[in-house]
Amino acid sequence: MKPAPFEYVVARTADDVVAALADGKARVLAGGQSLVLEMNYRHVRPQRLVDINRVPAFASLDLDGDAVQVGPLVRHRVFESGAVPGPLGDLLRRVVHHIAHPPIRARGTMAGSCAYAHPAAEWPAVAVALGARLDLRSASGIRTVEAADFFTGPFATVRRAEELLLAVHLPKLPPGTLVGFVEHRRTHASFAGLAAVVAVTVTDGRVRAAHLGLVNAADRPVRAATAEQVLVDRPLDDAVIAEAAAAAAGIDADPHTDVAYRRHAVGVLVRRALHQARDGG
Ligand SMILES: Cc1cc2nc3c(=O)[nH]c(=O)nc-3n(C[C@H](O)[C@H](O)[C@H](O)COP(=O)(O)OP(=O)(O)OC[C@H]3O[C@@H](n4cnc5c(N)ncnc54)[C@H](O)[C@@H]3O)c2cc1C
Repeated sequence: MKPAPFEYVVARTADDVVAALADGKARVLAGGQSLVLEMNYRHVRPQRLVDINRVPAFASLDLDGDAVQVGPLVRHRVFESGAVPGPLGDLLRRVVHHIAHPPIRARGTMAGSCAYAHPAAEWPAVAVALGARLDLRSASGIRTVEAADFFTGPFATVRRAEELLLAVHLPKLPPGTLVGFVEHRRTHASFAGLAAVVAVTVTDGRVRAAHLGLVNAADRPVRAATAEQVLVDRPLDDAVIAEAAAAAAGIDADPHTDVAYRRHAVGVLVRRALHQARDGG
């Protein structure tokens, strides 16, 4: 099928974008890897497309400060290289290879993935696990939302139609933070059936901070908070890992799925991700 007719606006500046979004009848066109599909199926029929691909400033990745600031045109593939240093870069590199395949990673964006909020998408769970913040810009200014509050359900966020997702701020991880990412999927390029993202900071043999996020375990990306509490102030040994995995398995799984299976699989993936973080591989 072809998309329903729409007006096409090429934005050159951030002001152009917010002006074109102001009446709430437009959609941002970033990588187009999800939006164009949705339009072709006529799941969405925006009156206007606002193409942000010619706003050069949007492709910037700002590494200064306590968080890495990801602009709305930073493509997935940027994270395949060493663009982000330290443990955060290691984590993003582990994750990005699980997103679709190279042509899609060359166009799709992290911000677009967050705005789209597919429950099986990887970046939203990374954002939630790390406690990222998201900047939303409209004609009335910028507001900042915690990732944990941003995602409200499948394909649903607190972003209003007139708002551009201007930046994703990913907190840097302290040196020595161990990272892991394990995903269960049907084929190499499929969306995640389930996945676990892990970042644990260990000093003097004890876990000082733990970030544990789950992809597709619920109707939105979630943090396995009880499992994180199990880890903190304990050594990252096999027994503690098993205890944390069991705690993670107690999550409120999406009731529209096979809850028992999903809980079991969450436990397995969290255990594997923690082992991967500790032992490498
Ligand atoms: C075959 C295939 C396999 C895929 N597999 C995976 C996978 O395994 N994991 C995964 O995570 N994703 C996967 N994707 C989706 C892909 O990652 C998309 O790139 C991503 O979901 C959306 O990013 P985009 O930049 O292409 O956004 P677009 O398609 O341009 O936009 C998606 C939606 O977000 C809105 N939007 C985009 N950017 C902004 C912004 N800055 N502010 C406000 N609204 C915005 C758009 O208006 C639209 O509603 C796959 C896609 C395909 C086609």
